[in-house]
Amino acid sequence: MSASNILSMTLSLFLFFGNGFFTQAFSPEMQRYIEKHSFETGDNFQKCGNTIILMYHTFVEEGEPTAEQDSLYTTADKLAEDIDKLQQAGYHSISLWAYRMGLFDPEEKYFILTLDDGYETNYTIAYPVLVEKGVYADIFANTEMMGQAGHLTWDMCREMEASGRVHVYSHLNTHEKATSLSEGEQRYWLEISVSALERELGEKRIWGMSYPYGDYDRAVFDVYRNLGASFQLVQGQQFDDPELLVRINVPYSADMNDIIEEAVHN
Ligand SMILES: [Zn+2]
Repeated sequence: MSASNILSMTLSLFLFFGNGFFTQAFSPEMQRYIEKHSFETGDNFQKCGNTIILMYHTFVEEGEPTAEQDSLYTTADKLAEDIDKLQQAGYHSISLWAYRMGLFDPEEKYFILTLDDGYETNYTIAYPVLVEKGVYADIFANTEMMGQAGHLTWDMCREMEASGRVHVYSHLNTHEKATSLSEGEQRYWLEISVSALERELGEKRIWGMSYPYGDYDRAVFDVYRNLGASFQLVQGQQFDDPELLVRINVPYSADMNDIIEEAVHN
């Protein structure tokens, strides 16, 4: 990129961000999306304390994760074993969408699988396990990373969604701490992210998100709720709210039976 290009880009960014853009209303496209989906919030839903939400990230192709990889990596076999143990403990698979819509039996127990950051291995390694086991999973992707090396492509997302086993939601546009952003930046980056999901994957999803690094506070929670988010996934509960869902990370070395004992039941 030439120096003059950089200069003109910097100038455009200054005009763009310095011009009150962040405080303006959403685009008509985004506004329609919010209006269409916000009604779903809470109408058929209440937490029954019967659902645990599990968090995974990426998967190793061969061998086992190293000690440093333990919290973020797992294997296809371990995922399959985790699912088996959940089912043996009486938990049924449910998608976040079905859970949020209240499409469950309050007398039963459920688990929701979530996969964060949109890694390509979600498609190459985890997805075949989900299909084989006949269970659901929800992916939270940084939309800016779509199609980049090691990450999902929109085609992979479309194929997985077409199976009915997987939905893809927003993990914001980039992997940044939400509390480090101004309210305007939060609105702007979420709009970019949700608009990309809507454009590429259609309007059928409800609008939810999970926080990069699990970083949130009451203020950012309220910002996203006021924008129409009907659920927000966190690790570590800072306060109680019907729309705040608490999940637990599943390290490779962890026994699923121990995770079940520790996990918050939403
Ligand atoms: Zn993340």
